[in-house]
Parts: sequence; structure tokens; C-alpha cells
Amino acid sequence: MRYFLAFLAGILLCSNITNAQKPVQQSSSEIYHSLEKLNFLGTALYIAAHPDDENTRLISYLSNETKARTGYLSLTRGDGGQNLIGPELRELLGVLRTQELLAARRIDGGEQFFSRANDFGYSKHPDETLEIWNKEAVLGDVVWAIRNFKPDVIINRFDHRSPGTTHGHHTSSAMLSFEAFDLANDKNAYSKQLELTETWQPQRLFFNTSWWFYGSQEKFDEADKSKMVNLDIGTYYPILGRSNNEIAALASSQHLCQGFGRLSQRGTENEYVELLKGSMPKNSNDIFEGIDTSWSRVPGGKAVGEILYAVEENFDFANPSKHLPQLLEAYELLQKVDDPYWKALKSQELKNIILNVGGLYLEASAETAFSNPGGKMKVNIEALNRSSADIILKSISISSTDKELKPSIALKNNEKQTFEIDLDIPEATDYTSPYWLREKGTLGMYKVDNQKLIGKPETPRAFLAKFQLEFNGKALTFEKPVIYHYAKPDKGELFQPFEILPEATASFSDKVLIFADGEPKKISVTVKAHADNIKGELQLSHSKGWAVDAESKPFKIANKGDEQTLIFTLTPPADEDASFISPIIKLNGKEITKELVMIDYDHVPTQSVLLPSEAKVVRLNIKKSGEHIGYIVGAGDEVPESLSQIGYIVHTIEPSSIAKGSLDKYDAVVVGIRAYNVVDELKFKQRYLFDYVEKGGNLVVQYNTASRWGDQFENLAPYPITLSRDRVTDENSAVEIIDKKNTLVNYPNKIDAADFNGWVQERGLYFPDKWAKEFTPVLSMSDKGESDKKGSILIAPYGKGNYIYTGLSFFRELPAGVPGAYKLFANMLSVEKNVQPTKLN
Ligand SMILES: [Zn+2]
Repeated sequence: MRYFLAFLAGILLCSNITNAQKPVQQSSSEIYHSLEKLNFLGTALYIAAHPDDENTRLISYLSNETKARTGYLSLTRGDGGQNLIGPELRELLGVLRTQELLAARRIDGGEQFFSRANDFGYSKHPDETLEIWNKEAVLGDVVWAIRNFKPDVIINRFDHRSPGTTHGHHTSSAMLSFEAFDLANDKNAYSKQLELTETWQPQRLFFNTSWWFYGSQEKFDEADKSKMVNLDIGTYYPILGRSNNEIAALASSQHLCQGFGRLSQRGTENEYVELLKGSMPKNSNDIFEGIDTSWSRVPGGKAVGEILYAVEENFDFANPSKHLPQLLEAYELLQKVDDPYWKALKSQELKNIILNVGGLYLEASAETAFSNPGGKMKVNIEALNRSSADIILKSISISSTDKELKPSIALKNNEKQTFEIDLDIPEATDYTSPYWLREKGTLGMYKVDNQKLIGKPETPRAFLAKFQLEFNGKALTFEKPVIYHYAKPDKGELFQPFEILPEATASFSDKVLIFADGEPKKISVTVKAHADNIKGELQLSHSKGWAVDAESKPFKIANKGDEQTLIFTLTPPADEDASFISPIIKLNGKEITKELVMIDYDHVPTQSVLLPSEAKVVRLNIKKSGEHIGYIVGAGDEVPESLSQIGYIVHTIEPSSIAKGSLDKYDAVVVGIRAYNVVDELKFKQRYLFDYVEKGGNLVVQYNTASRWGDQFENLAPYPITLSRDRVTDENSAVEIIDKKNTLVNYPNKIDAADFNGWVQERGLYFPDKWAKEFTPVLSMSDKGESDKKGSILIAPYGKGNYIYTGLSFFRELPAGVPGAYKLFANMLSVEKNVQPTKLN
């Protein structure tokens, strides 16, 4: 039982220790705010599907006004979306969005959790979602989150009663939460979890409704609100100097890769939650009404509360360290409390308050940003007491190692103590990398075998420095992750995680290599050293039919951080084929098959992600005409690189340089995804694009979104065309060629049904639903149970040239090496001039 309780405490607390590296140093008013939270014993969990679904106004309100322990369970990490600020997509986007959620929670005071569900892309109905996710597993993860977090109150972002009206992931999140509310307390459900945790019954379940779910403000005003609780989430916090909605806007502005940077809000705003399960709070706008949230709810807690309520009431803002004796006494009493959940949680909160009240600064900083398993590392320790309290630094140890210093030295007021610890990194230390990406999952699920990791936002850090301090004979241990701490002249002081990396990693410069003919290609593999003086061999593994000039090549790198590029010559088979090649580093008897991807932005801590290193190689028999392609970059896509692979020479066109006649030199001009949404200047350049077509040019416009398009800009095409929100999300949906004679499906590559096999994520999005008679639709496709969508690719002659609009997701298919998508794109670029120019009005 002891072991179980200690372990339970471990699970509960890890969620509190995120890897935000910057040490938190609280001012008096912030300490006071923490004290108020310390004295509230209630928990709320908000549940939705994606990063950005969460209502930060409500999370901030629960955390800062109600002062509850507040969590957000996002079932996915948002891997399936788009990225407005950089190249990360799929699992790397999930890593970035995880960090953006953590950044949001650091501002609104919430905690962050996930399930193993993978955001596989848009789905229209929860039936589809729950089939692609493993419903039983994701439901189990929600139950696990509830059993560990122990919420009194759960709030769903979405309505579980309205499948088909929003993203299938959204409705699914609400349906699973609705089911898990009772299952969490059923000892026969997911009983294996109960070896590690306990059952739990939340008291109330709400749905965070709003006028949006009713179609209009008027309809919502008329709706029956007898089951609703109304909260004013515009409340002002003098202690923090901000309104709740200001904090919320700051938090949601962390979702930068989704373009959520926004203005802050102030003033009264109403938020409604509708009761789904449990009893309606009586005459109250308090969702915790009737739930004991005082220290009395814990056996033995009353005595702790008596001390802590008095500290809160008599708090000395000018000299908070005055309260140290009472806080230490409360801490001691708290250790006798017979409730592992509250004991662990409140001990951690109380220790943080003690640290801040004493102005204590404890830091363990590694001398370099990373080391390797079996490597060495010097850690610099700083310990400082900025109060007049008598504090003795008894010992400093580093977890996962046997290193311990026992200085037993008095920390005198404002006299800094420093120490050095030489670490031998154990050979068995795991690499630092997101735990959910360590093994290959499925389309709908990440594979995580270790139950203790499920739900955690990040991989727990391997090395924690433990500072044992003694206050008047009472020992307390404080844990701090070992960090890397440095300064950049143009950025100031920076903190980042200290990481464990392999001695070397290898990566291909291109993730997809298209062999458009039988000629061999030179393949560059870059070996990057993460240790000094490494020497080994690199083997290139490939499948049958492909041939390489040497099975392995030697490398030797003197300094960590340096790279060496090795060139292999790869010859494709004669017939069409698609397979993978991967590099294997052979070094000191180890085989390393990983590549390292760094994600580096100012608003989140730097992330090191280790992924299986591989490149897709595709042998195609593709024909094309034309050579020089002009590309106008939109929101960012990898289509230009893909076109280079099949032999086009792609020129990036700066919108400012577009002028009369400037495009005439290109065989075709392609407009990147969402260009008209993100490049305002293009609307003034549209006439030059049409001039280019009129004179015989070939213009291909990829998808733009309908919503922001609106009335901003009307001449998207030379003839009227209306974008809609039509999309076909099933990448396997049947495609019918409706204009079999059309050049787009005949020249120079014959396109047939097989060319629509092996597509990824979706067919396409924001298809036009109305177009002028000059346009010819070529394909028809639909998702299950929906009407046929014919606007995925439209072509119209204009003057001597052609205008093509396509919502097909080439930006996903080409980088994924989908053969049919290459052929279709080559056909769009190869359309011949009209012999008979169209008559223009
Ligand atoms: Zn969403």
C-alpha cells in the first residue's frame, strides 16, 4: 500500500512539473494568489478534441477566480492541421501544438493532458472518428485521466447530442467524456488501470454551451436556461493586474501556428455551462456549489487549513518571509493527512510557496545543451536564500545517478553558494524525445505501452536536481529539472531543457525522392555529431530492385555539432515502384537509425524530436512538357521542391515583382496554397496573371479558403467562381473521371482510377460549388453519404491560355510521394496553348 500511495503521488505530481525551463520567481501578489489557490480544494477538468478548442476564458476563470485545480484534456495534439508559422506538419506539428498548449496553460494557470488519439485530419462524423481512433482505447484514456486528476466537475466543450454538425473529433470528445463520467467509478471498467490508480466519481458534468450552438444570439436569448449556470468571465483580478478575459486572450494567443494571435478583451462577458449529469447548483453561479472545497474535505486537513487560512488573511505583502514558520508548520501537518491525492498535490503547492516566500533561488544548469548515454556532463549548482530565515543546504543529488553532495552549509541572507557536480550519464538513459513518437502508431492512435506515460503532455525529464534544505530542523526536498542556461546577444537570457541525444543522427536532405525516369540519382545523407571524435560507418538500407553504389561508407567527425555529408548513388528499378530507404549509423558497436529534428520558436521551449530516419523512393514513368515554372508562394507548401524532383526548374516569383509581361517567360505559373488569403498584394496583381493567361500562359491556382475570401476580393478567376466549404476528407473515396476527353486526364499522362490510390489524409478542400459556363469540371468525388462534389479541378480557356483552379490537396500528396498526384500535376502544367483563342468580351 505504501508503494502504491507513493506511486500515486508520483503520477499526480508529474503533471505539475512541466518542462518550462525558466525558473518561476513570484512577487508578493503572485505568492498571495498561490496561497488563495492552496486554500481551495476543488478540481475541474475541461474536455475537447484539439489544441485551440479549449475555452481559455473558462479555464482561466476556474483557475484564477474559482481558484480550482483546472485541467484541459485535449484528446489529440492537433497533428492534422495546418501550420501558419513554419514547416512542421503531422507529428512535428503535434509536438509544436503540445508546446503551444503548455504555453497557454502557463498563462491561464491550467494543466494540460492528452489521450493517445491521433488527429488524423478532418472527419465529418463521430462514427468515422471512433472507427479510426480505437474507441475503447481513447475512452480508456479519458477514464484514466479522470481517475488520476479526480475532477469534481467536468466541462465538455462540445455537445455530445449533435453528431454531424461539427468536426467528428469534437462530438467524439463529448461522447467519450459523457461515457467516462460514470465508467471512471466502475471498478469493472478498465480494471487493469486500478493496479496504478483508483476509481473516481465526478459530481457534475456540464456542456460549455453558447449562442453559436443555437445558430444565433436571438435563439439563444429565448432558450430555456433552467439547466444553465451563468458565469461572468470578465472579472478583474487586482492581485494580477489583469481581467480574466485579458489573461484568456493572452493564453489563446499562444496558438500561433494556428494564427490565433488576437486582441485582448475586457469588461463583463457571460459564459454558460449546461448541466448534463449530477445535481443543478441551487440559486448559484458556482459550479462547485454543495461540494466541500475547504481543507475540511480532507481527513486531518482542518488543522492545516486553520494555519493556512490565517496566513492568507494576515498576509504581509511587504515581508512575505514572515510567514515561513507557519507555512513550515502547515507542511509538517500536511504530511500526516490520510489522503494521497490532496497530500501530494498540496505539498507540492506549499513547497513552491515556501520557496517563493523565502526568495530562494535553486538552479541546476548543465554546462552544455545535451549529452549522450554513457557521456559526461558538468552541472553547475546555484543556491541562494534571500530571506533572514535560518536555512541549511543539507545535500544536493541528481536523480538517475548516484551523485550527491552534502555541503550542510548555512544559506545566509543573499550570499550565493555555488557547486559543481560531474555527472556520468548512465548508458541506459533514454533519449530525450516525445514519448508518443518513439514507436510507430496507426493512422488513429499513438502507440504508448507504458501506462504511466499516457496522458502526460511531455516526456518526463531524466535528470532532476534534488535540493534538501533544513528550516529550523525541518527537512524539505525541492526538485528542479537540470536545465541548460545561456545568453544570446540578440535575445537575452535563455533557458532550455537539458537533453540526452544519440552520439550521431543521420538524415536525408529530401524525404521523398522521385525517379521520373530510369536514371540513377545521387542521394545525400548528412551525419550530425552529438559527441566529439566520432568515427563509424553509414549503411544505406534499401529494398529489392533498387541498387546502391556502396552498401556502406565511412565517416569521421571531430567536433560535436559538426556534420559530414555522404553521397550514395541509387539506381531505381525499371518498373514503377515505391519503397523506403533508411540510413543505419554503426558506431562503437551501436546501431542508430534516428534523425534529429529541432523545433525552435520564441514562444515555446526548443524541442528535440528523434524520428525514424527514412526517405520514400518512388520510381515513376511520368511524362511532362514545359520546363520553367513560376511559383507564387502562399501560406507555404513543398510543392516547388516536389516539382523540381520531376525535372522542372521552379522559379519563386515575388508578388511585388509581378508586372506586365513579367511572367511571359514561364511555361506555367502556379499559385501556392491560400496565397490570396495571406498575400494581400496579389489582389492588385491579378490582372497581370490574367494577361499572362490571355497571351497563352497556363495558370494553376491551388486552394484558398472560402471564409476569409468573402467579399474581400472578387476576381479570383477570369470568370465567376464561388468557393465553398465543400471538402472530401476520405483519402480513399472513389473518384470518377467525368470528362474523359479532357486534356487534364489524357496529356501527357493517361490518368485512370489507379492514380487515385495511395492518397494521404484527404482528397481536397474548399472546392468551388458554382462556376461560370467557361469552366469544365473534370472529376467527381464524395464522402460516404454525401452528394457528388465536382469542383475539385476546373479548367477554363482564356484568350490563348488556360486557367485551372484546384482544391485537390496536392500540397499533401506531392511531398508524400503519391504517384498519381504527380502525374495529374504534370498534366496541369503541360496543358497546351489553345490553337483557337477564346473570344474575350
Ligand atoms: Zn477542434
